[in-house]
Amino acid sequence: MRYGRIHLSKSRITCGLSVVMPSLNIVHTTVLQRSPLNFSRSQDAHLLSQPTMSPAPPADPHRPMRFIVVGGSVAGLCAAYTLRQSGHDVVVLDKRDERVQTRGGIRVPPNMTRLLETLPGMKTLLRDYGTECEGMTFLEGQTSQIIGRMVFLDETMADLGCNFYMVPYDILLKQLLHLCRQIGVQLKFRTEVASVNVAFGQRPSVVTIWGDRIEGDLLIGADGRDSIIRDTLTQQMEDSDDDDNDMDSLSEREHSAGVSEIVGASYSIDTSCFRNSPELQELVDSDEFTVWPGSHVLATGHKCGPELYIVTITRVTGATPTDIDSDWHPNASFPNADPLVAEFEPRVKSLLSLASHCHQTIQRIPVVRKITHAPTSMVLIGDAAHTITIGATHNSSIAVEDGFALGRIFSHLTARDQIPYLLHGYREVRLARSMATEASELGAFIVITFPPGPARDARNEQLGYSLINPDDMPDELLALTWANYLVQFNYDANEAVDEWWLMAKFNMPHRNGNGHTNGHSSQSSEYE
Ligand SMILES: Cc1cc2nc3c(=O)[nH]c(=O)nc-3n(C[C@H](O)[C@H](O)[C@H](O)COP(=O)(O)OP(=O)(O)OC[C@H]3O[C@@H](n4cnc5c(N)ncnc54)[C@H](O)[C@@H]3O)c2cc1C
Repeated sequence: MRYGRIHLSKSRITCGLSVVMPSLNIVHTTVLQRSPLNFSRSQDAHLLSQPTMSPAPPADPHRPMRFIVVGGSVAGLCAAYTLRQSGHDVVVLDKRDERVQTRGGIRVPPNMTRLLETLPGMKTLLRDYGTECEGMTFLEGQTSQIIGRMVFLDETMADLGCNFYMVPYDILLKQLLHLCRQIGVQLKFRTEVASVNVAFGQRPSVVTIWGDRIEGDLLIGADGRDSIIRDTLTQQMEDSDDDDNDMDSLSEREHSAGVSEIVGASYSIDTSCFRNSPELQELVDSDEFTVWPGSHVLATGHKCGPELYIVTITRVTGATPTDIDSDWHPNASFPNADPLVAEFEPRVKSLLSLASHCHQTIQRIPVVRKITHAPTSMVLIGDAAHTITIGATHNSSIAVEDGFALGRIFSHLTARDQIPYLLHGYREVRLARSMATEASELGAFIVITFPPGPARDARNEQLGYSLINPDDMPDELLALTWANYLVQFNYDANEAVDEWWLMAKFNMPHRNGNGHTNGHSSQSSEYE
């Protein structure tokens, strides 16, 4: 692959690069010229009604397994679809209404695009209803002076094979629901899981608030940050002596860099609101992310398709009792906005005053390490399984990777007694990847929100390199500034599963998500 003047092979990208400042991957100044995007929301119905999928695959009589997926958002639906593709019976339970009412936006980095584009209709959807992100502009929080710029060069994105999009959540969800329905996934909305029944060696089951009991071969917790399945799994794990706890020894404080709590808010603004405001119009005319670094607080803004502009505010610590994790309600207010935006330039405040939808969240760290429990046949995916910093690049991408990886690994399932072995494989492939991403996103957040002082000065100096001509930049610096992004963007969750499967077959060590060897055989005798 080629980055600026540097040629990097794929294997070097995934295995060999290290970073100095994990996400100040900021270099490059070429301004890309693109024709303006021209989409219309009315195309939505047309796209979704297109015949995008061949009929559901015939169920394989040799492996009729039943999967219960609790949570029908991005992680749950990706898992459900890919499991059903392999011929398994899949039921998805979600407590919310089927109609997605939110107007939030989701970041779709290349590692997520790579997976989504394998689904029927998704390539068109991302292109027609999303915004292709052309890079990031860093503005000094108070003065709005440009302090850095990263441009996603055409040639770099071409090498990666996928673009970075921002896409409205409701449009993505509608298409995933449509695909699941077409292929024969059973979807049950307004069906909250109230309790979970598991016992060693037994098939797991859940009981809904309506009193129905639903039993399956594997219970998948895709139920987000307040996961009921995670509570059960953690309890079971504490009661048992599971060998798959090997990574739990990693220091929680070391991983979380001393951060205990992050508070975030996401605001959705209709782009029509910008018409009478030339200084805001400038923001919406750009297809780049705008990043305003503050002191322990960060604001970002980006367009998300033709009709939506999203602002996020994220800060560490300082949560108050009134900060709660709310569902994604339309028109929710955010009473504590003033202290959050106090240190930003007037445009950020103006943006918030125009928002029609808001979502606030508290994220508590340390994070979950336990994502599978083989004796009771449970697994966690998406936000239920990890804690990617709110408002970061990879929240949804790791959730989607989880869903795809789970479906891929269980495509090998032919008998119920293989479930523990495949869960072990899932854990081996996914835990390292999600922990590396959590650490990188949190590290990036800490660096970008340095308070005034020498560390911030050093950061700004490095950011400043991005404003000089890339041809003048030393190759090493160019490589270092891109390295962390490339490791994240270049990842292919399906390939990682295939590699694990191949290595496991020949009883060879598996390389985890960081490109490091785990040092022990995937096929420990316990699972043979
Ligand atoms: C309605 C909705 C809108 C969102 N909009 C945005 C957005 O605009 N921008 C953004 O960045 N992120 C948004 N998110 C969050 C985003 O989807 C996640 O942060 C991330 O993508 C991880 O997805 P996930 O599937 O792991 O978890 P989530 O998206 O959090 O999904 C969890 C699902 O589990 C369901 N659930 C929880 N508990 C139970 C239970 N006991 N029984 C049954 N079902 C249960 C929830 O209703 C939810 O649908 C939204 C989430 C939801 C639920």
